[in-house]
Amino acid sequence: MNTSGNPALVLNADFRPLNYYPLSLCSWQVAIKAVFLKRVSVIENYEKEVHSPSTTFKLPSVIALKDYVTSLRKPAFTRFNVFLRDNFTCQYCQNKFSANELTFDHLIPKCLNGKTVWTNVVSACTACNLKKGRKLITQGEMSLVKPPFKPSATQLQNNGRNFPPNYLHKSWRDYLYWDTELET
Ligand SMILES: [Zn+2]
Repeated sequence: MNTSGNPALVLNADFRPLNYYPLSLCSWQVAIKAVFLKRVSVIENYEKEVHSPSTTFKLPSVIALKDYVTSLRKPAFTRFNVFLRDNFTCQYCQNKFSANELTFDHLIPKCLNGKTVWTNVVSACTACNLKKGRKLITQGEMSLVKPPFKPSATQLQNNGRNFPPNYLHKSWRDYLYWDTELET
C-alpha cells in the first residue's frame, strides 16, 4: 500500500500550525508513532486505513501536540528566507515574482567587500539586478523599498501565511483558514 502521500498537519497545543512555511507536516509513520507515545492528539483522519496484526486504524491527517512549544529557532539565512522576508517582491521595482524569477542582490557589491548577510542582501528581479550591476545605489537613480533587516522567526512566519502551499488536504483547511489574520 502506498501511503507516502498522506502527511499529517502538525498543530501546536493551541491548535495553530507549528509552521507555515514550510508548512508543518510529518509522515504518517511519525504521526502514528507520536499518537502511540501519547505526545499528540488526533484531530482529523484520512479515509485511508492501515492494518497491524491486531488492529486497524485510520491515518491521522491533523494532529495536535499535547505540550505547547514556543519557537525559539533563529531563521536560517537562506535564499528562500530572504525572498520570504521581502514578500517575494523586488526591492527596487516593487513587483512580485516567483522564487525562480528572483535573484540575490548585494547592496554593497561583493567586489567592494560587501558581505553576504541579512543587512546587505535584498531580493531583486533579474532586470533590476542587471540594471544595478556592481554599483552602489547612491550612484544611480534606483532606490530601495526598505533597507534590508534581519527578520525574526515570527516575521517570516507571518509572511509565510500569505503563501499557502499548493496542495492542501481538505481536513487541513479549517485549521489554516481560522488562523489567518483578519484584514482591518
Ligand atoms: Zn525589479
